[in-house]
This record gives sequence, C-alpha cells and structure tokens, in this order.
Amino acid sequence: MQVKCTICDKVEEIENDSPHAKRLRNRRKNIHLCTPCYKRIEENTKKRLDTGKFRFYQETKKVDDYL
Ligand SMILES: [Zn+2]
Repeated sequence: MQVKCTICDKVEEIENDSPHAKRLRNRRKNIHLCTPCYKRIEENTKKRLDTGKFRFYQETKKVDDYL
C-alpha cells in the first residue's frame, strides 16, 4: 500500500502485511512518517524530553490524516 509522510508529503510504498500497514488501516488516526522524518522527530523528541518540554503530540495531531 502507499502511504504519505505526514510531515513532508513524501509517498512511500510499504508492505501490505507489515504491522505498520495494518495499524494505519485499522486506526485512521495513525500517522505515517518517512524514515528521514522519523529519525528527525526521534532526535527532537529526545532533546525535548531532556529539556522537559515535550510537545511532540500536540504538534502532530493538527496534521491532516492522509488516509
Ligand atoms: Zn517525511
């Protein structure tokens, strides 16, 4: 199936049977991040956790769901 990155709109092809694909189909609120974005978010999240200002969830839930 094709999924679009929630952040940069890059479309990626992922395995239909992968756990990630199943989650995206079952739970429409689930967001997909391409690998570069995921890595960037992961790093930012760690930094924010370190500083005690964790706002990742609040920022991402405003983004429209591609599915
Ligand atoms: Zn991306």
